[in-house]
Amino acid sequence: MKLVLIGPPGCGKGTQSGLLCKKFGLPHISSGNILRAEVQAGTPFGKKIKKYMDRGEIGPQELITKAVLEHIDKNCPSGFVLDGFPRTLYQAETLHGTHNIVAAIYLNVAEKEILKRITGRRTCSKCGRVFHLDYSPPKKNGICDSCEGELVQRDDDTAETVKNRVQIYKKETMPVLDFYRTLGVLKEINANVAPDVIFQEILNIV
Ligand code: AMP
Repeated sequence: MKLVLIGPPGCGKGTQSGLLCKKFGLPHISSGNILRAEVQAGTPFGKKIKKYMDRGEIGPQELITKAVLEHIDKNCPSGFVLDGFPRTLYQAETLHGTHNIVAAIYLNVAEKEILKRITGRRTCSKCGRVFHLDYSPPKKNGICDSCEGELVQRDDDTAETVKNRVQIYKKETMPVLDFYRTLGVLKEINANVAPDVIFQEILNIV
């Protein structure tokens, strides 16, 4: 099963990908996590992309596409849930060249909801698990329920960067919706509701 989750920042791609992977035993491929790991490890590639990521921009997408596709080929060529990739038409077309996506699930969320969701988001600095201060708080303040790592706010989860990310989403990622619509695999879901309701909708599709 090869699935893509697509939508604006804060639509719940990470949460829903995690739930889907757990349910079906699929690998969760988050391009953001792959790139953040490069930045954290201080690799030459990580140094190159950091400034783009801090601003919420797309950056050198040929290199990014190559990194994500290599990750797929190495770890999970036969099935995955993709989160944050493809983000541009170029990425969608390149992915389509080698992988047959069975469904691109579009989590459609209202713009006014986005800022609220993202600024309350806290991420585990050790395992990457995501919490929300209001909607899914950790049991212990500032500590990850899974691995006891420290919860931090991502550098690009500030109000100013989020506005930039939404603009980039509209310009670069919305054409990807049309790409999958034309292929007949786009499935749109109302993502303004609670995570368990969204997940049920996704299950009805897959
Ligand atoms: P995310 O964790 O998906 O919100 O991604 C965080 C940041 O990583 C984005 O704002 C981009 O700067 C970068 N990024 C993640 N995925 C991609 C991608 N598919 N193409 C280009 N940049 C990406």
